[in-house]
Amino acid sequence: MAGVEFHPVRVLAIEPLTDDAVSVSFDIPTDLSTLFDHTPGQHLIVRATVDGQDVRRSYSICSAKGATSPSVGIKRLPGGVFSTFVHDTLKIGDTIEVTPPTGDFTLTPDHDNKNRYVAIAAGSGITPVLSMIRSVLEFEPQSMFTLLYGNKDGRSVMFLDELDALKGAYPDRFVIVHVLSRESHEIPLFEGRIDAEKLERMLGTIIEPAAVSGWYLCGPRGMVDGAQGVLRSHGVPAADIHDELFYAGELTESTVAVDDVEGATVRFTLRGRTSTATVATDGAPILDHVLAIRPDGPFSCRSGACASCRAKVTVGEVRMDKNWSLSQAEVDSGQILTCQSHPVSDLVELTYDV
Ligand SMILES: Cc1cc2nc3c(=O)[nH]c(=O)nc-3n(C[C@H](O)[C@H](O)[C@H](O)COP(=O)(O)OP(=O)(O)OC[C@H]3O[C@@H](n4cnc5c(N)ncnc54)[C@H](O)[C@@H]3O)c2cc1C
Repeated sequence: MAGVEFHPVRVLAIEPLTDDAVSVSFDIPTDLSTLFDHTPGQHLIVRATVDGQDVRRSYSICSAKGATSPSVGIKRLPGGVFSTFVHDTLKIGDTIEVTPPTGDFTLTPDHDNKNRYVAIAAGSGITPVLSMIRSVLEFEPQSMFTLLYGNKDGRSVMFLDELDALKGAYPDRFVIVHVLSRESHEIPLFEGRIDAEKLERMLGTIIEPAAVSGWYLCGPRGMVDGAQGVLRSHGVPAADIHDELFYAGELTESTVAVDDVEGATVRFTLRGRTSTATVATDGAPILDHVLAIRPDGPFSCRSGACASCRAKVTVGEVRMDKNWSLSQAEVDSGQILTCQSHPVSDLVELTYDV
């Protein structure tokens, strides 16, 4: 868990994907290639100093498994600190810091599988899914992949050329259904947003849920929650549905008062060193106190979505405001998102070193 080690790497290429999205690929030194080998669906944490601030964001790898120079697709968010920096300032040849791949939203291809996968993605949610599609088509010759992909209009579809090329190369194993919210289509089912109602109508017509072995959902919370509900109501086991949110709501603002005089004792171990903080039960989350003492502590989205800041509670109890990234089994085993956690018991001991 504490393995959020950044490595300086060179930017190998920056290519436009749409008016507001670029792909960025990284030149991974040969001695780090094993460390950077990814499972389709994983993301990297990318870090840069922007206006004097240490800024870190997660970006899903969109290249196929085994790619020597992993790439990510970054959509510009109006006013967004990191995406604006990437679009306006980052150049080919620059050095930027990245972590090895991380994350549990994964599909591990196996040559002998004869599976049928369905991904439901919207906007930049295509990035982890594209890696899965490329990898399944390449490494699972008997499996099929269907992609339901929602966007505003044709111009805003990220990786349109790549998806068309995959469709051309694997016409019998790859099906792509574009659903556009601001363009009309002769088939009304393919117009609008991918919401629960639309998905309900697709199941049983273009997709037979019982034949699907894995569902992969990546997009805004409304789409992901809606799809989860519809799939579960069709009897799809929870274990077959995998989802990832890129954004879980407004960021937790750092309001840390490291000098909190009253509060619980939080003892945390990070890379073998144990430190102690006093943390108010209703103040800033534990992560903010950790970073005040150990600026090398792991974090990225700070909104409960990426799990970079996860740790394991060994003594005591915490409460989490939000959790969009840990499974119930992980929570049951004591894992927490420190960016969302506040002490409940007077003493909490936790470790990032698991
Ligand atoms: C696991 C994971 C994988 C990700 N993969 C990708 C990827 O492949 N491609 C990609 O483009 N992004 C991806 N993201 C999102 C990415 O990490 C950043 O959050 C995004 O680029 C915005 O960062 P920013 O610094 O530009 O915006 P910020 O400065 O962080 O945010 C600006 C404003 O927009 C809000 N906001 C932040 N993110 C969003 C959002 N997604 N939608 C709506 N409002 C938002 C913030 O609350 C804030 O008000 C991923 C996130 C996670 C957790």
